Amino acid sequence: MSSMPNPKQANNLPGFDPMMGQLEVIEPGIAMFHGFANVAFAYGRGEMIVVDTSSRNMGAAAVRAIREVSEEPFAFLIYTHGHGDHAFGTEAFVTDAITRGHARPKIWAHEDVAGRFKRYALTRGWQSHINRLQFGGAFATDGLFDPKSFSLPDLVYRDQQFLDLVGEPVELHHAMGETDDATWVWMPTRRLAMVGDLIVSSMPNTGNPNKVQRYTLEWAETLEAIAKCAPQ
Ligand SMILES: [Zn+2]
Repeated sequence: MSSMPNPKQANNLPGFDPMMGQLEVIEPGIAMFHGFANVAFAYGRGEMIVVDTSSRNMGAAAVRAIREVSEEPFAFLIYTHGHGDHAFGTEAFVTDAITRGHARPKIWAHEDVAGRFKRYALTRGWQSHINRLQFGGAFATDGLFDPKSFSLPDLVYRDQQFLDLVGEPVELHHAMGETDDATWVWMPTRRLAMVGDLIVSSMPNTGNPNKVQRYTLEWAETLEAIAKCAPQ
């Protein structure tokens, strides 16, 4: 997880509350659900690509918000990493697909995400304890690490993966930064980068006494690689 966001820095949405979330249509076919962590939607080609699924208690809000804009099936979900505020809201997307009679979305992620989920399941009590120390109540419940939180990737890659999803080129690039299982997503025809917690709304959290030291140098190198793409 990133540090607690400062709503004033997170975006320019008036009255924004990161614990409630709010959808912003950035351009036709691209929307962002701003929350504690963000969810990005690429739509308009008959099926939708979703980058991250938010947290266990905010996934449904993200789904409700995008459904005001598009009824397209969720074809692919991509996790930028395995943190709970980015990858634990998947059940809401799958439930939406079932309810609408759509196919279950396919999940792409780096190959190490599954191992992270396994570690979280094995250390549930410890994870809750250190989250209580870092974040207070909101992320302190054992329920966050309920088995239902873990929707494993269907499709994984190691270094980089060049895809054609819903008729559009989509690149997945592995990165070491806030986590060792990070992916930044590049959609070259739109010059759109979706980078998860490689960019946060506060000082990057490169480690604290309760968690592993993170990957400071690789993190900086990744940001330079993303910048080199000159995203819009
Ligand atoms: Zn994170």
